[in-house]
Formats: sequence, C-alpha cells, structure tokens
Amino acid sequence: MYVRLVKSFGFEAAHFLPGFPEGHKCRRMHGHSFRVDVVVAGEMDPVVGHLIDYGEIKKAIEPLHEKLDHQVLNQVENLENPTSEMIAAWLWERLVTTLPLLAEVIVHETCTSRCHYQGPEHIGP
Ligand SMILES: [Zn+2]
Repeated sequence: MYVRLVKSFGFEAAHFLPGFPEGHKCRRMHGHSFRVDVVVAGEMDPVVGHLIDYGEIKKAIEPLHEKLDHQVLNQVENLENPTSEMIAAWLWERLVTTLPLLAEVIVHETCTSRCHYQGPEHIGP
C-alpha cells in the first residue's frame, strides 16, 4: 500500500527579496508566519502498518526550524535570496539526507500563496 505522510510546522521570520524590481513591496523588509508541509511517500510496512514514525520527520525538521525561526532569512547561510521557492529547495537539500522518503516540501508564505517542490530531479508538472 502506497501512502504519503505529511508533517507540518511553522516558523516566524523576516525577509526581503533583492531579486524583485525596484519599488516592489517585496524588496522591503517584512515578515511572514511561514508554514511548511514535509511530505514523505512510499510503500508502507504491511506488518507494522505504517511508513515511518511521524516523530522521525519531526526530528529531521527540528534543527532546521531552529535555523529559520525568528531570523532574518537573508542572513541564513545559503538563503541570501529567500523566496518561497528558495526556502523549499533549501529545506529539501537538508531534509533529504535524513529523510530518504522525502517526496515534497510545501512552503506556505501566506494563507493563499505557497510553493510545492518535489526535488531537483522532478521536472514539469
Ligand atoms: Zn515576503
């Protein structure tokens, strides 16, 4: 049985987006209550009846949450241009080493705006 598990977490942070055109509101320093969904997927163990422990996902997230929460994201190493897309890729690179079943990282910048990222090998829709 193939399943997808989702573990969500949130963090509060400030950023500005230097790649946006001069005068664009996103170039100004501002903050968001970001929400992230970490998705793992695979064939579950039929005996145990689950894929992996949600606690394992939480453990993988914790050190990254520490690096992002209440920070100016532009000052986080390798996150100088912290768009939702770049945050998703940053999280993917760091989560995939401990979560080989990682299938998707979704970064919600607001309640209505989010980025879905399925890793560098996933091309197209
Ligand atoms: Zn923003």
